[in-house]
Amino acid sequence: MHNKTLTELSKGLRSGEFSSVELTHHFLNRIDQLDGVYNSFITVTAEQALAQAAAADQQLAKGNTPVLCGVPMAHKDIFCTEGVRTSCGSRMLDTFVPPYNATVVENFAAAGAVVLGKTNMDEFAMGSSNETSYYGPVKNPWQTQCVPGGSSGGSAAAIAARLTPAATATDTGGSIRQPAALCGITGLKPTYGRVSRWGMIAFASSLDQGGPMARNAEDVAVLLNTMASFDDKDSTCLERPVPDYTATLNAKLDGLTIGVPEQYFGDGLNPAVEQAVQDALREYENLGATIKDISLPHSNLSVPAYYVIAPAEASANLSRFDGVRYGHRCDNPQDLEDLYKRSRAEGFGDEVKRRILVGAYCLSAGYYDAYYKKALQVRRLIQQDFVAAFKQVDIIMGPTCPNPAFEFGSKGSDPVAMYLEDIYTIATNLAGLPGMSIPCGLVDDKPVGLQLIGNYFDEARMLNIAHRFQQQTDWHQLAPPSITNVSLQDESIAHANGESA
Ligand code: GLN
Repeated sequence: MHNKTLTELSKGLRSGEFSSVELTHHFLNRIDQLDGVYNSFITVTAEQALAQAAAADQQLAKGNTPVLCGVPMAHKDIFCTEGVRTSCGSRMLDTFVPPYNATVVENFAAAGAVVLGKTNMDEFAMGSSNETSYYGPVKNPWQTQCVPGGSSGGSAAAIAARLTPAATATDTGGSIRQPAALCGITGLKPTYGRVSRWGMIAFASSLDQGGPMARNAEDVAVLLNTMASFDDKDSTCLERPVPDYTATLNAKLDGLTIGVPEQYFGDGLNPAVEQAVQDALREYENLGATIKDISLPHSNLSVPAYYVIAPAEASANLSRFDGVRYGHRCDNPQDLEDLYKRSRAEGFGDEVKRRILVGAYCLSAGYYDAYYKKALQVRRLIQQDFVAAFKQVDIIMGPTCPNPAFEFGSKGSDPVAMYLEDIYTIATNLAGLPGMSIPCGLVDDKPVGLQLIGNYFDEARMLNIAHRFQQQTDWHQLAPPSITNVSLQDESIAHANGESA
């Protein structure tokens, strides 16, 4: 069952091939047997999942249920879940149990989806490798000595390892697209404001956006139908009707113009990754698209601008973790200042502290104009590059990341090398545009991603363009070899437990 896509599972539930309780047992069993290796979950909510599945089975028996009813999924541990610990990958929130659900969590609950648990992530979503999680790194199922990407590495690895058919994720500078690329799955960061941020623990509020991950574009479209909504609890959420993202998946691509930015193919791009992307572009030509060279002249400024703006916003957002209201509190504080200092010193990891320091520095009176204000001006130039580009082309394509997954520890001592992982993804967040990563090849036996950048609110078109590619290619169907081996063993465990696989 775990090799089926979300859409196939939904059909199987409706045709009575299996029940939601059986399906949920199957995935919980896989998590139990396999996640000791991958560490993709921080919390598994088995009891609650089985109760949700039983309720879904009753709904399914009545018929006419939402497409996600009874389908198992997972939430990134950045989304608040009522009664279930929400850690954000940090010691600071190790014991935090929210009294409410994020809007995104509510949306999936209302659709009858079954939540298997909460996925591992970089601490407060700061990172590109999952190495900053308080709960230890996630292993890439393709090669376990390599990182899964970050910060949504738990969600991506869990899908790649067939521990869940789908998961939620968030993307502030690339955290949906980069792990999707490194784990060989499909992930979409919507237009800023398309998905509610309410109950999603804030990192950099003007950049953060939740989005879905799954094995293919069709499943991502199904998920986005439920995940996107207008929410008056999030003042930056836009009041626009949510289209049916599955309706136009099969539209023809004749007449499509794809912009290929020269800046995305320069120094630092692995030649084999470049080749995979070029091959994908040829495939699009076969599908009727025209390729057009474009320029995004301020691309080289996106990483520096981001590493002023994101830490500045993070330093403000993370000031709420003071040891008083919730989160970690140090033992035996001497006075209020000692309480603040030690609670924060103990609760936050190194990367989070680095960002708070950088952010507070950039926002300080003497440096605000030189750094923060300047970064905002650069952000506007980057956004204007895209506005100009979308006057000439329908969609932009390039690599998601410069390289396939790297080994643990290989960038640990050099934050800048790590920051360059997001060189092709960050500009999209600065501009607020939707972006997507779909598998387009293997380099050194590891997956690499093709990035699609769409115009504002053009997710339906982007999903159509991704889906057409996935009808022609099978990169998205490849499973990590280690999974294929271990799953055989898992089948025998499942059979021994009297379950059908
Ligand atoms: N890797 C980037 C960072 O560390 C982006 C993270 C994200 O998108 N959450 O800030």
